[in-house]
Amino acid sequence: MSTLLLKKGREHSLLRRHPWVFSGAVLGIRGPDPEPGETVDIADADGHWLARGAFSPESSILVRVWTFDETEAIDEAFFARRIAEAVALRGGCGETSPSLARRLVHGESDGLPGVVVDRYGDVIVVQLTTAGADRWRGAIVAALRAAVPDAATIYERSDAHARELEGLAPADGLLWGAEPPDVIEARWAGLAFGVPVRTGHKTGVYLDQAENLPRVGALAAGADVLDAFCYTGGFTMAALRGGAKSVTALDSSAPALDAFRANLARNGFDESRVEILCDDAFRRLRTFRDQGRSFDLIVLDPPKFAESRAQVERACRAYKDINLLAFKLLRPGGRLATFSCSGSVTPELFQKVVADAALDARRPARIVGRFSQAADHPVALAFPEGGYLKGLLCEVPAR
Ligand code: SAH
Repeated sequence: MSTLLLKKGREHSLLRRHPWVFSGAVLGIRGPDPEPGETVDIADADGHWLARGAFSPESSILVRVWTFDETEAIDEAFFARRIAEAVALRGGCGETSPSLARRLVHGESDGLPGVVVDRYGDVIVVQLTTAGADRWRGAIVAALRAAVPDAATIYERSDAHARELEGLAPADGLLWGAEPPDVIEARWAGLAFGVPVRTGHKTGVYLDQAENLPRVGALAAGADVLDAFCYTGGFTMAALRGGAKSVTALDSSAPALDAFRANLARNGFDESRVEILCDDAFRRLRTFRDQGRSFDLIVLDPPKFAESRAQVERACRAYKDINLLAFKLLRPGGRLATFSCSGSVTPELFQKVVADAALDARRPARIVGRFSQAADHPVALAFPEGGYLKGLLCEVPAR
């Protein structure tokens, strides 16, 4: 196995068990040039062993750490242990509910960089985003079969943008078991959802908002609600369940809105309380402002505006723009639930952007609640980047 030697003084983040080695920290390689995804040792400038991880020659994150234990080999048994541990953390695999929806593996925070696994009923969906994860696909599938014995299907959705940064082509398709149905029936937050497992975003849907749906729904009684970036309608349905008077739901994706209509029917909601608009949110929010429309409760859950640190500034301009518009559309006493899922936009920065938006909108708002990702998307303390979803509940004065 080759060893990557770090420049002097660049070992601190590994000593704190942060699992990434940036290319700029590396002095050189001792041994043959490793292949993409191959396991390498990492040592400090004096040759002291620090960690063992997967080599990603195309990425600015040159190594992602599998283990900080020098005695631990990276082999099939390693993946079996890590995946069994991750599944056990979610209450084990004895869940026989046919509609269970849960994230089983959350990348670095479960000690498995580049590996995301979601479960929808008896269908397991795997997303592999790094060269190391890609190389160990077979071991990961074997480990999932052992850890989730009641699974019928293991399906791959490795089509995330992150793979491009690793020089990896998209990879979608059946890995094991029976072909999944196009739409899986699943439940979370007390609601029934269809999961478009082959065509939906990420592994099909956004499970990270599961715990926030009922919290937002509880604010909706009697309210006129705007659900911007609604995707397949989680917040809209939570608001309807909470007694909303009306919901205006907005997304630029026509397939998402088709899935949304099917979800309304699945839950027996009356479509007459819902206005569904296929449009660009930036444009439509401006139109609403010009028309003098207003709402009691607004949800803003936009896509990841920053894919990397380089895009943070541009992302912040976009967050500010939509939040400013949303503040202008709020009725006196109204509330805004505003989210960011960009990992490189920190909670502090996001709060500052929302504060700037309120200032420019001349709405002196207060934070009355905070949101984060669901508990099955844990955040390793050594890896704060794992906590990518954050949200603020803001309230404007009643007069
Ligand atoms: N709130 C949703 C997830 C939203 S994901 C849930 O809990 O399930 C972000 C959504 O924004 C996607 O559905 C995407 O289609 C939509 N989107 C992206 N850019 C948009 C734009 N400019 N205008 C409106 N919708 C947009």
